[in-house]
Amino acid sequence: MSRFTQELKVIPRAMRIIVAFVLLALSSAFTLFVMFSNDQGLAHTPEAAKLLMIVGVGIVPAIWLLLIGYVYADAKRRGMRYVMWTLLAIFIPNAIGIILYFILRDPLMKPCPGCSQVLKSGYTFCPLCGTSLLPTCPNCGRGVESGWANCPACGTKLPSPTPRAA
Ligand SMILES: [Zn+2]
Ligand SMILES: [Zn+2]
Repeated sequence: MSRFTQELKVIPRAMRIIVAFVLLALSSAFTLFVMFSNDQGLAHTPEAAKLLMIVGVGIVPAIWLLLIGYVYADAKRRGMRYVMWTLLAIFIPNAIGIILYFILRDPLMKPCPGCSQVLKSGYTFCPLCGTSLLPTCPNCGRGVESGWANCPACGTKLPSPTPRAA
C-alpha cells in the first residue's frame, strides 16, 4: 500500500487538483440532474442508488485523468518521450495507450554513485564521470552480469562470482 501511495505522489499536484474539480463538477451536475429531472424511471429509483450514481459518475473520468497525469510524470522521470506517451495515453481509445505505456516503459533511472547524475539504466560506465556502473570483463571491458562465467563478447573466463551469503 505504501508503494501505491508513493506512486500516486508522482502525479503532478496540478493534475490532482484538476481531478478533484472534475469529480466535484460532475457529481454536482449529476446531483442537480437527479433533483430536477422529471424522468419516471429516476423517480422510482431508491435514494441509496441515486447517491451511488452521484459518486460513481465522476470516478471513471477521474481515474482516467489520474492515469494520464501518472503517464506524463512517470515517463518524464524515466527519460522517455513523455509528450508522445501522454498524447498516446489521451488519444488511443479504451485506455489502450495507457496499458501500452505500462507494458513498454523503460526501467527507472538511477543516480550515478560517483557524481549522482541521474542516468538511464543499462549503462556500463557513467558518461559524465566514468564511474563503473556494472561489473566489466577484464579483457574487453564490456559490461557483464554477475553470475556469468564467461564474457559473451570475447569469451574470456570471468572471475568466479562470490557466492551469495545464505
Ligand atoms: Zn557519474
Ligand atoms: Zn570480454
